Amino acid sequence: MKIIIIGNGISGITCARWLRKLGDSEITVISSETKHFFSRTALMYAYMGHMRPEDLKPYEDWFWEKNRINLLEAHVDNIDFETKTLATTQGALQYDKLVLALGSKSNKFGWPGQDLERVGGLYHWQDLENMEKYSPGLKHAVIVGGGLIGIEMAEMFRSRKIGVSMLVREASYWNNVLPAEESDMINRHIKSHHIDLRLGVNLDSIQDDGKGAAKSVIIKETQEEIPCGYVGLTAGVSPNIAFLKETGLEVGRGIKVDSHLKTNMPDVYAIGDCAELSDPKPGRRGIEAIWYTGRMMGETAAYNIMGQTVAYDPGIWFNSAKFLDIEYQVYGEVPGKLPEDMSTIYWEHSDGDKAIRINYHKTEKYIRGFNLMGVRYRHEVCEKWLAQKTPVKEVLQNLGLANFDPEFYDEYEADVIQLYNKQEGTNINLKTKRGLDRVLAFLKS
Ligand SMILES: Cc1cc2nc3c(=O)[nH]c(=O)nc-3n(C[C@H](O)[C@H](O)[C@H](O)COP(=O)(O)OP(=O)(O)OC[C@H]3O[C@@H](n4cnc5c(N)ncnc54)[C@H](O)[C@@H]3O)c2cc1C
Repeated sequence: MKIIIIGNGISGITCARWLRKLGDSEITVISSETKHFFSRTALMYAYMGHMRPEDLKPYEDWFWEKNRINLLEAHVDNIDFETKTLATTQGALQYDKLVLALGSKSNKFGWPGQDLERVGGLYHWQDLENMEKYSPGLKHAVIVGGGLIGIEMAEMFRSRKIGVSMLVREASYWNNVLPAEESDMINRHIKSHHIDLRLGVNLDSIQDDGKGAAKSVIIKETQEEIPCGYVGLTAGVSPNIAFLKETGLEVGRGIKVDSHLKTNMPDVYAIGDCAELSDPKPGRRGIEAIWYTGRMMGETAAYNIMGQTVAYDPGIWFNSAKFLDIEYQVYGEVPGKLPEDMSTIYWEHSDGDKAIRINYHKTEKYIRGFNLMGVRYRHEVCEKWLAQKTPVKEVLQNLGLANFDPEFYDEYEADVIQLYNKQEGTNINLKTKRGLDRVLAFLKS
């Protein structure tokens, strides 16, 4: 059986690896971005000099031949789903099963000047090359869009002492995702890194220097002009599927898939950032463009292709990232705006750089979510509590089990419990002492 995977990101490569584990098919992975898989989430560390570009490759170059996974550097221009033929820059190819793992692309909203030189997103390897190319001698950059990628780009430029203005449409940083207190913490943190954060503003246009490159941006609301030598476009991403729009493949915002990650075309699957579940689980989105979902989808698709019917289960929502120096983790339900049936405890350290939020059901009092800023909790412990709908009291009494590194982080659990007692009129205390042996016993129980 000939299986072709278009896309060598985390979803396509995970699928290829699982296909090899599960059988002896002929596997080809095509990408026009780079020959080898690299860790997209670590792009920033290559720019900042923490990693060499070759360190971004999770597998050695010999891995692919040894595992009989063919890598083809080519662009797929068109797909004929009837004849199962791909038109690529390296010629036509036939498949028996096809996996679309096309990823995302940076959003552009038709701004005047968006295609000038010295303008770019932060998604593809070529975006990193573009930033590298224009960084020498660069005095000031303007980044359009908040979110996780915008703040990474700001950190990258600041690491080279380049001035940064950040234009954010929302009234507070990423407040469509983060609750108000955490969003405000990040506003302060961004400013403390000498980033000129402009909230509640939109980009009007990017001005041409007369030679086809950006020289400044104009803010829509004020018509203020900010001179700059680079404009970063980080106003979100969307599925990279433009070339498939007229093919009969069912698409919405992404490629529509059922719970087995199958598209409406025979023997064609879609996974990762480009896939949109037709029927997502309650409280979850059709497209979840993050690393971990790509990995889970890659594995699930491989099972289904090899004839073992497995439904995609996204598990408990989890994400982790970093806002400059503040680590961020979220488990379960932590919406930007608290719904009617949810209560929350929010504890913030007096240094303003650490916070713990615990969400629970207002009347039934079971745990629903954790939001952690500058404090790290154990994934497995939080996941187990959430999956079992553990009473929030029990969670709080055993909070030490979740604390990732008691040597490193001070003991904040007692403060969190005090907040809960005040809010609910209870008198609970910390029960479980910390210790890896206790964590392991809890996970086994
Ligand atoms: C800067 C940055 C930081 C991030 N940080 C985090 C994080 O901290 N945590 C997290 O969970 N997620 C993070 N993400 C998101 C995460 O990286 C993505 O969700 C994930 O990499 C998507 O994987 P994928 O396999 O779906 O697609 P991709 O990695 O985009 O791979 C798709 C590949 O297919 C290729 N391709 C597409 N169309 C064609 C075609 N027609 N012909 C040939 N090749 C084609 C593309 O060029 C690309 O190489 C980050 C993303 C970025 C950009």
